[in-house]
Amino acid sequence: MGHVPEPAPPRSPAHHVPGGFTNPGLSAPRTFRDLLRWRREALTKRIPPPETYDFPLAPNDPAFLRGNGDTPTVTWIGHATLLVQMGGRNVLTDPHFTTRCSPVSWAGPRRAVPPGLAMDDLPPVHLVVISHDHFDSLDEGTVRLLARREGGDETLWCVPLGLGPYLRSWGVRRVVELDWWQGTQAHGLAVTAVPAQHWSKRHLIGRDRTLWAGFAVAAPGFRFLFCGDSGYPGDFREIGRRLGPFDLAAIPIGAYAPRWFMGPYHMDPEEAVRVHADVRAARSVAMHWGTFVLTDEPLDEPPRRLAAARERAGLKENAFRVLAHGETWVLSGAWDAAGMFEGATTPRAS
Ligand code: ZN
Repeated sequence: MGHVPEPAPPRSPAHHVPGGFTNPGLSAPRTFRDLLRWRREALTKRIPPPETYDFPLAPNDPAFLRGNGDTPTVTWIGHATLLVQMGGRNVLTDPHFTTRCSPVSWAGPRRAVPPGLAMDDLPPVHLVVISHDHFDSLDEGTVRLLARREGGDETLWCVPLGLGPYLRSWGVRRVVELDWWQGTQAHGLAVTAVPAQHWSKRHLIGRDRTLWAGFAVAAPGFRFLFCGDSGYPGDFREIGRRLGPFDLAAIPIGAYAPRWFMGPYHMDPEEAVRVHADVRAARSVAMHWGTFVLTDEPLDEPPRRLAAARERAGLKENAFRVLAHGETWVLSGAWDAAGMFEGATTPRAS
């Protein structure tokens, strides 16, 4: 037997660095000094607390959602938590149903609005995608409750590299960790993790040790993109080129102020409108706003700026919608010649 040379190890992708991950497109990450400056300046700004707001809870119809066959729908539950129904399957994004996004139950940002759909009212969940390890996206209490639900063992959880151990220790059975552009399939859904421009940190020490991502989910006849938590421009054009066009994109519009600090990691509404075009979305739904006070802008500002940006871009309201907490957008109906979706309705609880 001759000597068979070992194949050279594959070159690791640009976002892999020793001990963790990085954003290949970003030059200088924020420093601890930047963080202190942001917190110091925020003290002088009188940022309105969550009880300032009186967001309406939309009536929803859990019986319709449970009985729904193939009609695609999206329900905004709050922050980055969406229930998307596609191909007869139910997909949950960044599920957060508890009171605070915090490592502890007695402190940290608390909800301005209860979840728009109660966990008990969810239909069976086939797929959960989680974008990264921050407390507003990865909520231990919620994960434990979802894992314990009847049928919870059937749920597939797709997460970025490094998040599997958290979920397994909280009772989740089926977890797949994905690197950017890696995919898996289950329940008739094809899931691909995609790049996001963000960071990760869950503990006092260390950052960027686990990966952050968005997810493209495809069912027969319907493609959905969950952008995750991201700054702009990221790799959105590349996502659109490789995996688009999308029937629906969930795009963050909040947590952007101040720009000097948040800019690299959180897009603003104007950038969100560009993402809608970059990823080639037929229609988009706004997320990551209106639920937790995380940054300096008023909690109800993002939709106003989105409306102005949409108008400047010549987009109809129905191309990039802002839903009320708990509102369901039924995505059936015909497209008009301008590519505009005409069939939007909200089912009302009877
Ligand atoms: Zn985050």
